[in-house]
Amino acid sequence: MLSVGDNLEAVLERIERAVARAGRPAGSVKLLAISKKQPIERIREAWEAGQRRFGENHVQEFERKAPLLGFSGAEWHLVGHLQSNKARRAAELFQVIETVDSERLARRLSEFAVGGGAGVQACRFPQIGPTAGQEASPTAPLPVLVEVKLSPEPTKAGCSEQDLPRLIEAVRALPNLDLRGLMTMPPFTADPEGARPYFARLREWSLRLNLPELSMGMSHDFEAAIEEGSTIVRVGTAIFGERNLESLSD
Ligand SMILES: *Cc1c(COP(=O)(O)O)cnc(C)c1O
Repeated sequence: MLSVGDNLEAVLERIERAVARAGRPAGSVKLLAISKKQPIERIREAWEAGQRRFGENHVQEFERKAPLLGFSGAEWHLVGHLQSNKARRAAELFQVIETVDSERLARRLSEFAVGGGAGVQACRFPQIGPTAGQEASPTAPLPVLVEVKLSPEPTKAGCSEQDLPRLIEAVRALPNLDLRGLMTMPPFTADPEGARPYFARLREWSLRLNLPELSMGMSHDFEAAIEEGSTIVRVGTAIFGERNLESLSD
């Protein structure tokens, strides 16, 4: 089995090749290593290989893992569905919330956003936020993405396209949230080309709504996503291998 470091290097190379193929500037796509249900040692290997952006999909699972990892200076994104009653904890633990899908959730996050990030580290590092490159501030607004549901599957979370313009307006009006972009998870198709129309559609929305970040693309389809304009790819198994832990969440 290849090491996490080897996998990471291979994924980064594939990202840069796709970026070049698409005629986009080098370094224009950020890699989020999705570490849900992965053993602590493998997550640490990624950190030691230089990976700094990670994603988790359950608040409680990350709550248990964060103290064991203790990375200082990492940027953690929540990429799983978030219930309003966990908004406070999520705002404390994560540097970026990618799954805002209702006004109610957005309002709760804004309420608890200021001073967040303290659950893991002293302050938030909004590296995808407007203060990137400047000193991190504990009072910086919380960077968020709105999750969009582009297919009718009943199980998929996310805001419908119909409700999207209104939700975007509402999130923009909240004082403590920094709306950075859109996120989507297309229905699974064995052929990565099946996801391409969804990626193209999210890109159209991001242009229409003037939002810079597009979180789309996973292990099996991130190259197609990059060709369609993705700026954040969320890659789990291609870096860490199959997820073999039971979810640590309740
Ligand atoms: C698990 C997960 C991923 C990563 O999936 P892989 O197929 O392992 O790359 C990406 N995005 C979300 C929202 C996830 O839950």
